[in-house]
Amino acid sequence: MTKPQPKLLQHVEELLQDAAHQDSPLREPLAQLYQHHLEQQEKLERLITIADGYQQSAHEDLHLTREQLEQQIRRQQKLSRIADRYQALLRERNLALRAASSVDPLTGLANRRRLNEQLEQWHATAERHQRALTLAMLDIDRFKSVNDSFGHGTGDKALELLAGGLQESLRASDICGRWGGEEFLLLLPETSLTQATPLMERLCQHLRQLQIPVDDDRHIALTASVGVAEHRPGDAIDATIKRADQALMEAKHQGRDRWSAAPA
Ligand code: GH3
Ligand code: MG
Ligand code: MG
Repeated sequence: MTKPQPKLLQHVEELLQDAAHQDSPLREPLAQLYQHHLEQQEKLERLITIADGYQQSAHEDLHLTREQLEQQIRRQQKLSRIADRYQALLRERNLALRAASSVDPLTGLANRRRLNEQLEQWHATAERHQRALTLAMLDIDRFKSVNDSFGHGTGDKALELLAGGLQESLRASDICGRWGGEEFLLLLPETSLTQATPLMERLCQHLRQLQIPVDDDRHIALTASVGVAEHRPGDAIDATIKRADQALMEAKHQGRDRWSAAPA
């Protein structure tokens, strides 16, 4: 691409074409100089075009690289947002799973798995800090006859109500869970047998008074037997559970609807 001829060049061109100067000795060198200038100018313009092209392509490359980088950053940010959401979801699911795996679905009380965790934890505390710990094993009396007489659905309802009654009678620091079937385990941290005595009395009394609906207009009352054992320092927690179980058998033998303490 040639630029418009400057005035000087146009003048030189006119001089070279002017017939009046055909014989001038300066004409030939001027013509050569003029030609040389035109060639130099053409070369220069070619160089400029190449340099412009190079600059343009470098600019385009830079622009493209920047766009690709920004796109990559956006993609990474999106990915990390997805990962964050996924992690939060996983945490939520884990919590829900943990809660579900610790709770007995019928009664809403701690299940046996959760009870075992708590037993282990409170046993360790009792041993380490010489703190009292008392366990009570509770079994509903003649529960089979409830199912036999009124159906399994009524039995389930009774278990739910009794579980609620149990929790109402306990202190906030006591732990109560379903050990299995119609048996419940009470874990009384920092509590001696003497301190547990009024609690056991109150518990049996409260359960006795619960009204269990068996059909539209009939209610029954249920009772429970309880075996209580104060943990002996140095014993395994299973040994204390066993003593509570034996005390429960004793309460059943003595006629049910009562609590019995394991010998120290
Ligand atoms: P005892 O006073 O000697 O404990 O008599 P019991 O009838 O309570 O004892 P037994 O061991 O003979 O029967 C326990 C009954 O508890 C039998 C079983 O069907 C019932 N049971 C256990 N789990 C559930 C449950 O989840 N729902 C219902 N409806 N019944 C249950
Ligand atoms: Mg039983
Ligand atoms: Mg029973």
